[in-house]
Amino acid sequence: MTPRDLLAALPCLALALATLGYLAVCVVAPFGRCGTCDGTGRKRSPLTRAGRECRRCAGTGLRLRVGRHVINHIKDEYEAGNR
Ligand SMILES: [Zn+2]
Repeated sequence: MTPRDLLAALPCLALALATLGYLAVCVVAPFGRCGTCDGTGRKRSPLTRAGRECRRCAGTGLRLRVGRHVINHIKDEYEAGNR
C-alpha cells in the first residue's frame, strides 16, 4: 500500500465516519430544532402580526431528524419480519 492509495482512501473513510457520527447523533438526540419556527413553536403570520402555532412541529419546536426516521423505518421492518 503506497501513500497514494492511503490518500485515495481518505475521502471514503471521512464519509463513513461522518455517516456513523450522524447516526450516533440520531440515536442520542432523535429530535432537532424545527427549521420553520426556529424552535419557538410559533410562526408569525405575514399579513397580521399575530403568531400562530407552527404546523410543521405542532407547536413543540422540535422535529424528528431524517436519520432517526430511517432508523425507525429499518427497526419497524425488522420487527415486522420477525413476528
Ligand atoms: Zn416549528
